[in-house]
Amino acid sequence: MDPRGFPTSLPEFQKVFPNDDACAKYLERMRWPETFKCPQCGVTGEPYRFPSRSSVVLRCRGCKTNTSLTAGTVMQSSHTRLSIWFWGAYLAATQTPGQSALQFQRQLGLSRYETAFQILHKLRAGMIRPERDGIGGQYPVEVDECHVGGRSRGVGRGVHDMATVVGAVEVRQRKDAEHRAAQYKGGYAGGIPLKKLVYAGRLRLRVVPSRQPGPLIKFVTESVSKGSTVRTDGWHGYNELRGLGYDNDVLVLGGDPEKADAHLPMIHLVFSNLKTWILGTHHGAIAQHHLQAYLNEYVYRFNRRFYPMTAFNSVLGLAAHSTPPTYESLYSGDWKHPI
Ligand SMILES: [Zn+2]
Repeated sequence: MDPRGFPTSLPEFQKVFPNDDACAKYLERMRWPETFKCPQCGVTGEPYRFPSRSSVVLRCRGCKTNTSLTAGTVMQSSHTRLSIWFWGAYLAATQTPGQSALQFQRQLGLSRYETAFQILHKLRAGMIRPERDGIGGQYPVEVDECHVGGRSRGVGRGVHDMATVVGAVEVRQRKDAEHRAAQYKGGYAGGIPLKKLVYAGRLRLRVVPSRQPGPLIKFVTESVSKGSTVRTDGWHGYNELRGLGYDNDVLVLGGDPEKADAHLPMIHLVFSNLKTWILGTHHGAIAQHHLQAYLNEYVYRFNRRFYPMTAFNSVLGLAAHSTPPTYESLYSGDWKHPI
């Protein structure tokens, strides 16, 4: 269990959600934190339950209308057990590398590949929502481009070409940065800044047709809040940023890759991890016309890596519902199942 109260392993997760009944109780609590309220007639109070059959239906004692706990979620009308959905959502929301349908099928012990494929597909739909708010503001933003291998439509096996991806990532300072700096001062001659004093904040990635100023500037203005400090290398494609209300912090000593790494460490780390993910999970074989969807999934998970709970609810389609109980309260037993 990590300090944020989210299970960090499947055994822990199973302790919180041991069976379909626990999953159903979670769904009910998400929707009605206090007491069941009939969506049909508005009557509140304990509904009829059907222990003998699937536990996803509650029946109003007033108007006798059945309400499904999975209505409006990705699990709606599915014949797959709730616990399988929950475990799948846990894997999809927490496994940074992402995974193939085959890995997914094996991990969940599903007999049919198609079932795994469909579940994964539905859970992914909750992850490819484009993120519209601007990043940056009080945090400086590093912007750079990289090349990602892809497979072009109609191009033969083994023939690859590269897509250009532009990225922007916030550089945030740890809250305890000053304390840590003071603590480690003695051990680090010359006050060399420790890498751990900063961490990556929110990320944006986009496939662009070229490194020309047009697409690069469009990406920055659509992804980064005006007034932010934008760090770039010496590439002329970003020259217009100053005139557009950004504080462009340019690396003037261009050409040296080591200096570029020191100037833009965060975005370079992001690119490196992104390439590993594409090579490892997808064997580098992402069709170019699908690349943006994969980038969206990557960004989604990256931006919620400190909030796995949010990602978990979101992939299940539960995000719209009211305040959920925290995993901590579920796990510790503080959370009360509706009676
Ligand atoms: Zn009713």
